[in-house]
Amino acid sequence: MLEENKLKRFFRNVLAAMLALFLIMLGYTQRAKKQYLQNGCVLSIFFHNPPRRLFLSCIKWLKKNGFYFISTQQLIDFLYLRTPLLPGAVWITFDDGWKNNLTQVMPTIKQYQIPITFFIPTGEIENGAFWFCEAIKHKNLLPEELQINPFEKLLQLTNHERQRIINELYRNDDYTSPENGEPFTLADINELAALPYIGFGSHTVNHVVTTNCAREELDFEIQKSRLVLEQWLGVEITAFAYPNGNYDGREKAILQKYGYKIAATIEEHPVTYATDPFLVPRNCVLDDGSFAENLCHLLGVWTPFIIKLKRLTSWALNLPQSQQARTPY
Ligand SMILES: [Zn+2]
Repeated sequence: MLEENKLKRFFRNVLAAMLALFLIMLGYTQRAKKQYLQNGCVLSIFFHNPPRRLFLSCIKWLKKNGFYFISTQQLIDFLYLRTPLLPGAVWITFDDGWKNNLTQVMPTIKQYQIPITFFIPTGEIENGAFWFCEAIKHKNLLPEELQINPFEKLLQLTNHERQRIINELYRNDDYTSPENGEPFTLADINELAALPYIGFGSHTVNHVVTTNCAREELDFEIQKSRLVLEQWLGVEITAFAYPNGNYDGREKAILQKYGYKIAATIEEHPVTYATDPFLVPRNCVLDDGSFAENLCHLLGVWTPFIIKLKRLTSWALNLPQSQQARTPY
């Protein structure tokens, strides 16, 4: 099954690369680049767990094409104080805190001294595992109805129910916790925090889907993750990223109550002076896929084109329109 999925993914990526080259040839990326290089416009990009070569290619492309990198504080000043930025500003963030980031992206970040914010789910760091990885790896230990597509199905449940199932998985006699888990350790975080261009933000405690949380769960996830990060790092935490990009509007008041200044989504638009600081868009670079496809993602060209293409094919084939696929994690 794993081999079959890998093969499917390979063919998907080959087709996507061909489509991306077509979009590049038609001038889509060139036009988007011009838009992002205008005054009053910030390019916001986020990664999860990219391989070294892909991340380096993105950074080299950005530098060669007139972009430069800004910190979270510079973005906050831009949004709240209208502090102008020179054209070509890019805000780069990483979600989750993947251990591989240490070897795959940190050498490039150090080489170019790029200001980076890592969004961390504090409870997952303490557990030494991401629940979504463990649920997929140990799906045979989950209730039978969740064993096919466990990640997608767990995302449909209330937060309380999802947490109960994950806790049961961790208590299962046949479950073995990973020796070298995927997340950063606290020691990794402290080591990174010593670098002046590295910052951290909250990604809740348990990497919850905020829209599946009851009001008091949401309050806990937003407050506790900030408190823990502040205890670990001894600095004020002002940034938040919505896990999986989901939000339903209840979050803003709670984020403000606990002193956050900005919150990042996965909507793909430029950041401008008009952007709501609690709905900061970010263009998603995929961990796999070609550089050509990811250049289209990085510049926010890919998703709008795919949505139009799907609408067109649904219309032509008279099929009901499917929901746009969300980027996991
Ligand atoms: Zn995440």
